[in-house]
Amino acid sequence: MFKFVYFFGKDVTDGKSSMKDLLGGKGANLAEMANLGVPVPPGFTITAEVCVLYLKNNEYSKEMVQQVEEAVDKLETINGKKLGDPEDPLLVSVRSGARVSMPGMMDTVLNLGLTDKSVVGLAKKVNDERFAYDCYRRFIAMFGDVVLGIEFRKFDSLIGDKKKELGVKSDTDLDAEALKQLAERFKEVIKLEKGFDFPQDPKVQLQMAIDAVFDSWNNPRAITYRKINGIDDKWGTAVNVQTMVYGNMGNTSGTGVAFTRNPSTGEKKFFGEYLLNAQGEDVVAGIRTPKYINTLKDEIPEAYGQLVDICQRLEAHFTDMQDIEFTIQEGKLYMLQTRTGKRTAAAAVKVAKDMVEEGLIDKETAVTRVQAEHIDLLLHPRIDPEAKLELIANGLPASPGAAVGKIVFTAEAAEEMAEKGEKTILVRTETSPEDIGGMAAAQGVLTVRGGMTSHAAVVGRGMGKPCVVGCGEIVIDTKNALFKVNGYTINEHDYISIDGSSGNVILGEVELIEAEINNDLKHILLWADEIRTLGVRTNADNPTDASLARELGAEGIGLCRTEHMFFGEDRIPVVREMIMAEEEKSRKKALKKLLPMQKEDFLGIFRSMEGLPVTVRLLDPPLHEFLPNKEELDEKLREYETAGNIEKIAAVNKIIERVVSLTELNPMLGHRGCRLGITYPEIYDMQVRAIMEAACELAVEGVQVSPEIMIPLVGHVKELALTRQKVCELADAVMAEKGTKFDYKVGTMIELPRAAITADKIAPEADFFSFGTNDLTQTTFGFSRDDVAKFVPIYQKAGILENDPFAVLDQEGVGEIMKIGIEKGRSVKPDLKMGICGEHGGEPKSILFAHSIGLNYVSCSPYRVPIARLVAAQSTLASRNK
Ligand code: ADP
Ligand code: MG
Ligand code: MG
Repeated sequence: MFKFVYFFGKDVTDGKSSMKDLLGGKGANLAEMANLGVPVPPGFTITAEVCVLYLKNNEYSKEMVQQVEEAVDKLETINGKKLGDPEDPLLVSVRSGARVSMPGMMDTVLNLGLTDKSVVGLAKKVNDERFAYDCYRRFIAMFGDVVLGIEFRKFDSLIGDKKKELGVKSDTDLDAEALKQLAERFKEVIKLEKGFDFPQDPKVQLQMAIDAVFDSWNNPRAITYRKINGIDDKWGTAVNVQTMVYGNMGNTSGTGVAFTRNPSTGEKKFFGEYLLNAQGEDVVAGIRTPKYINTLKDEIPEAYGQLVDICQRLEAHFTDMQDIEFTIQEGKLYMLQTRTGKRTAAAAVKVAKDMVEEGLIDKETAVTRVQAEHIDLLLHPRIDPEAKLELIANGLPASPGAAVGKIVFTAEAAEEMAEKGEKTILVRTETSPEDIGGMAAAQGVLTVRGGMTSHAAVVGRGMGKPCVVGCGEIVIDTKNALFKVNGYTINEHDYISIDGSSGNVILGEVELIEAEINNDLKHILLWADEIRTLGVRTNADNPTDASLARELGAEGIGLCRTEHMFFGEDRIPVVREMIMAEEEKSRKKALKKLLPMQKEDFLGIFRSMEGLPVTVRLLDPPLHEFLPNKEELDEKLREYETAGNIEKIAAVNKIIERVVSLTELNPMLGHRGCRLGITYPEIYDMQVRAIMEAACELAVEGVQVSPEIMIPLVGHVKELALTRQKVCELADAVMAEKGTKFDYKVGTMIELPRAAITADKIAPEADFFSFGTNDLTQTTFGFSRDDVAKFVPIYQKAGILENDPFAVLDQEGVGEIMKIGIEKGRSVKPDLKMGICGEHGGEPKSILFAHSIGLNYVSCSPYRVPIARLVAAQSTLASRNK
């Protein structure tokens, strides 16, 4: 026979906590508590399978109906009371409970079984009329609200009227007569609203309540919640029918909720609230102000002691922090629920670490208890969750953390304000490399255009700078120094706040909470390091970021972009001179000036990464990115024309000419990467010389260096072969010049499909592969990453794409191409070291994937390093458990 109903109680319990799929979280844990000998009022759980069948067929099977009847009989026998008995009625609660806890599902109905007749019996039996009518009026209101769908407000306002009428403040001040009258009024409300009488047959009451729980699975709130949280519509919910215990039997009774540890700090201290002479959710409903759990010790000492003891047992049993609900009836404690407690990021980390030290869990478990998002939150200042917010817009959450400041529209303004000690939010249509100074000076960055890998997003994440991008609703009005959005006008120097974790843009100054890597997190990360096999490097292109990343646990640099070094104030004129050069000779002259500057950069980086590998990518972006943009030049031209400055007009015209000649229709697919190196070999020569001279000088000093030179945008092996040969010749020459020798590597990025597909041809020329997943995503999809903000959000809404592929690696397409590259590369060089250095290197799902396809390391921005360490360890554990 098929089992639809599972009993729980002191002597018979059919279920256990591992049966959550069938019994729901609440039912499974009630059974588990009963199994452990914890005092739980007896009851039974109707399975989620019944829900699924009922919703499909709109009726119950005979077997199910029979099993419920039998369970009710059993409950009556155990309690020695009968449902609806006019002298001594059995009352029950009807509680919903799905596999995962789900707001939006039906609320609990308490005191079911009371009728006009049995309420009299109950009053006599316990010799307390007030108590009996308190139960009755609660039941009618809950039944009306939860089962019949009448707004609770309609009952609640009658309670308010009554209190006013009698001149009392608290519900507990209402006497038996008042409660009796309320019960009558409530029944009238039901009759008025529904056109039928409040049911006086407990069996009917029970059936209606059970139906209502099952039906609530499909109410709009529940459906929306499931959609947002990816919960399967097919699961259904279980129903729990449980003997009532009464927290409203005077001042030796009460009800409360508690956590075995502090859910906000993680501190190992019993935490909770309770109310005396109360029932159900009075504690959370805010009807009366609850008391802190410690005072229960004095009010009902015995029950308190027992509660503490049971909580410890439950925590030890489930080996995790528990969130429990209890009721005390005339001094006797009953447990009504236990589940894993929700906690803040700080608490998650502390609890995991403490539990290892207490011997409750092992290090592996601790590492799985902390989530990437927790670390993310802990590493960035965040918005005070208590703060009231006035939302004005929403963009893409590009770089987590919150920032508050006065808005400015130019990088220079941000820098000027920073000098005066003022905090700013830099608002730009989109950012360009020239804005870096301003971005660094601002607290946060907000852009109108751009996706998750736009310049602002990448640089923002690199700097750990909160950043909201692609906020298309904003209209910037430069002339009047303001922006407009959703009916708001925000003037320059007005305060706004941005939340880079949610994409929210908020009016005014919001309260922030500071970030920290505390001792607890350090422990968790060290344990992660012991477990993981995947290496973690960082993307850094200056010594400050490099040292920061090293402190955060990076094991080297996986991507040092050299172009950012060209944008310094002292450099950009020289870079432009180099680009403007008409022949090789003058270009070389400019490059010669750049050489010592670049060398200085590498000295700093190599030094801060002493003993660790540093992968330096040779120049990648197209040259026109280093020139001012056309509009800016045109404006200058007009200025000079008005002033009649002939010399300057000629100079600007010359630049315009060069800009025009360098302009490309698709710069992302244009004259960049190794194509640049091959057409202007002297640029790469200068960079290689700078790298090697810096490395040699340090090597002579005794500093351990291991440079890895990386050639970008290779599609054909011959591109790499040619470039590599030149790099090696020059590198060896520099080492000979400096009279030193050490190992260096020359490898390539795999960021074009052709490179991945011909990886077996490329591998012999490469000492390593680094998958540049930003460009590989771009070239695989044929999406320009600077334009994706226009359509990817729409694709996501339409269900075409689940994620932005520039944020979460597309495993099905891009990932498959990576696999080809790995397999083919290793088919000729089994030990070929491979990593990933796109933005995906710091994204949890993508890290898991990187591990699963056999990459050796991921490289990500400094602030993502701790996250990568954690997720890498979780990946190892996940693959062990397979
Ligand atoms: P939720 O899922 O919203 O927490 P519950 O089913 O846990 O709903 O019920 C809410 C509250 O109702 C419980 O915390 C408890 O105080 C009270 N309650 C539920 N069942 C009983 C019962 N059998 N006896 C006494 N109180 C109960
Ligand atoms: Mg509730
Ligand atoms: Mg509950």
